[in-house]
Amino acid sequence: FSSARTPEAAAPSATNRPIPAVLGADLEVPVKGGRLVGYANLDYAASAPCLEPVSAAVTAALPAYSSVHRGAGYASQLTTARYEQARHTVRAFVGARPDDSVIFTRNTTDATNLLAGCLPEGTTTVVFDTEHHASLLPWRHAVRLAPPAFPGEAVRAADEALAAIEGPKLLVVTAASNVTGELWPIAALAHIAHRHGARILVDAAQLVPHRRLNLTALDLDYVAFSGHKLYAPFGAGALVGRRDWLAEGEPYLKGGGAVRSVGESVEWHDDPEPRHEAGTPNVLGAIALAAACDALTATGWTALVREEERLIARLRSGLASIDGVRELSLWGDDHPRVGIVSFTVAGYSAREVAEALSGEYGIGVRDGKFCAHPFVRHLLGTSGGASDGDCADDTGSAVRASIGIGSTQEHVDRLIEAVRDLVSRR
Ligand code: PLP
Repeated sequence: FSSARTPEAAAPSATNRPIPAVLGADLEVPVKGGRLVGYANLDYAASAPCLEPVSAAVTAALPAYSSVHRGAGYASQLTTARYEQARHTVRAFVGARPDDSVIFTRNTTDATNLLAGCLPEGTTTVVFDTEHHASLLPWRHAVRLAPPAFPGEAVRAADEALAAIEGPKLLVVTAASNVTGELWPIAALAHIAHRHGARILVDAAQLVPHRRLNLTALDLDYVAFSGHKLYAPFGAGALVGRRDWLAEGEPYLKGGGAVRSVGESVEWHDDPEPRHEAGTPNVLGAIALAAACDALTATGWTALVREEERLIARLRSGLASIDGVRELSLWGDDHPRVGIVSFTVAGYSAREVAEALSGEYGIGVRDGKFCAHPFVRHLLGTSGGASDGDCADDTGSAVRASIGIGSTQEHVDRLIEAVRDLVSRR
């Protein structure tokens, strides 16, 4: 199903700077027996390490920062200019249309909730049960669709669901699964949504660290993503997309900056950016996020994707060669995916595997249901338990290894050998 490859197909030519380094690449961690080993961070899908150019951009902004949008002083003007430049950078990074809004949020969850609060009265949202909770839960009226058996089935199911809905409608879909890494046919889904007069929100949290996204070329209405998965520190994300719903929606936070004037009554800004960014914004977060966008663009996607595909193919085939290891996949081995692999190991709980990988081999992975409980249950064929904490409940959980810039062949090989070792001890 060729449209599943669309995010990559939209890639412009690379500019070919060397792949930047990440901070913490030489981190050493204690393992059993008190030995120190180099940390193999294979948990990028949760939060990726900070790129050196990102750290440099934040350091450069620190000596002269001040309030944004309000102060007349030099430092205020400089900070405002840097903040607004960051907005331009993010706009270009996702290939937004000139009249799209770029709103800085805390993260993807904040962005989806912001949009949920701006939907026109009576909007019905169509969402697959494969979504991360950030994209599954914020909607007031949602039609939930079962995980589709193949990509064309996703398009057909969305088509049918949207056709049956009267009034405003929004289709929400993730571009790359945080559980399986699989790419979704977002161009085809956008086409279907628009045919039914619906809009589409793409959760790009796991796509933008791995592939070029072009909102205009793909004809998407909204995209949401997080800086901390994109090699910037925590605390800044973005919602990018069409202005009208955002201009009319209830201001996300009520306070300074979101208002034109306050007297007996309040006149809110109708430009979405000030309207939904009340209070002092996370300027350094925005600068960091933009620096990450710049660094990835300057490196070029061809080099990044090539290296990631080499390592993930090695990891997947290594794990597949171990008896009792099962990779989670919705659409099969050959479906294109980003650098994320979730798996189970027969005879071990996911928590046992993750703890042994950390405590004995210095490898950091994630275990649990990855804030995608319905999807993980579907993939594992388990039903919902009473206790449903993401990590506390180990029934029907999996282990997730994820890679990105700074991941090495040694990290990947260490994981494979560690899992082989665990299995041989069973
Ligand atoms: N969407 C996807 C696909 C994710 O993987 C995540 C985080 O794991 C989120 C949304 C939520 O991101 P955040 O926790 O930064 O809000």
